[in-house]
Amino acid sequence: MTKASTASDRTPSPTLADRPATGKVSVRNVTKVYDPEGAHVVALDGFSMEMEAGDFVAIVGPSGCGKSTLMNILAGFDTLSTGEVYLDDQLLAGPGTKPLPGSDRVVVFQQGALFPWMTVLQNVTYGLMKKGELTREEADAKGLEFLERSGNLAKIASSYPTQLSSGMQRRVEIIRALINDPKILLLDEPFRAMDTVNKNRMHQHLLRIYQATRKTIMFITHDLEEALFLADRVIVMTTRPGTMKLDIAVDLPRPRHHALMASDAYLAMKQQAVLAVREEAKRAFDRGEREMA
Ligand code: ADP
Repeated sequence: MTKASTASDRTPSPTLADRPATGKVSVRNVTKVYDPEGAHVVALDGFSMEMEAGDFVAIVGPSGCGKSTLMNILAGFDTLSTGEVYLDDQLLAGPGTKPLPGSDRVVVFQQGALFPWMTVLQNVTYGLMKKGELTREEADAKGLEFLERSGNLAKIASSYPTQLSSGMQRRVEIIRALINDPKILLLDEPFRAMDTVNKNRMHQHLLRIYQATRKTIMFITHDLEEALFLADRVIVMTTRPGTMKLDIAVDLPRPRHHALMASDAYLAMKQQAVLAVREEAKRAFDRGEREMA
């Protein structure tokens, strides 16, 4: 099978950076109940997982299985009901602990969150300026350097978000997140609305950034192929209440290219994951039928 090469395929990828010292995550027996006094929706039920610093983990599972709930707890946007979350062995969230969003955990969403009234450079340097440690000139210099390093993007520094494609906006958002040197990058279906060609391009950009920075990444997606292509581990969640159904170690070499998706190893993992996701989707469907009956 021949594969058309693209400009991004031809750009050499950096080798995988060393494992960082920070960014280890431990989710221990986490339960989340929404509206405990009323509807009592159990979104997560005794969910546990470990991420070593520098791991790239994808979370997949049927809609409503608790993926965003998990990410919101890690990001500090929501509380948990029981259990604990640790970041580098420090308690981040526990029952009664209101976790706070912090620059050590940054989320990039599918719908995008760039400030439309700011230029790309102003967006990218926003967090640096807010911290107040750099002058405007120093922040701009750092922002331009990051943009340039992340695929020659200094040329769009003066553009406004609405002038950019959605793919370019997502790249700027990821750069904006990374310039603040977070311990974890939380990606909530960032490429969901994109067509296959743009998605593939974004995968290569993200992998290049991951290879260079080796940040701990949690990546939520509905797209199993995307999960297996990008991550070191793919966690398949059960239908609600969300628990871990399968934890697949993705033993594919890096740097990764889409040709890998035709390999026997990839196809075997895909088969295993597809069966698990289908089983859970069927359980969700059957329960929906029962609840409707
Ligand atoms: P996913 O991201 O996997 O689609 P979510 O984490 O968004 O799932 O939701 C898990 C379950 O919790 C779903 O059944 C959803 O309807 C429910 N849920 C999410 N947020 C709330 C909320 N604020 N109040 C009540 N139920 C909620």
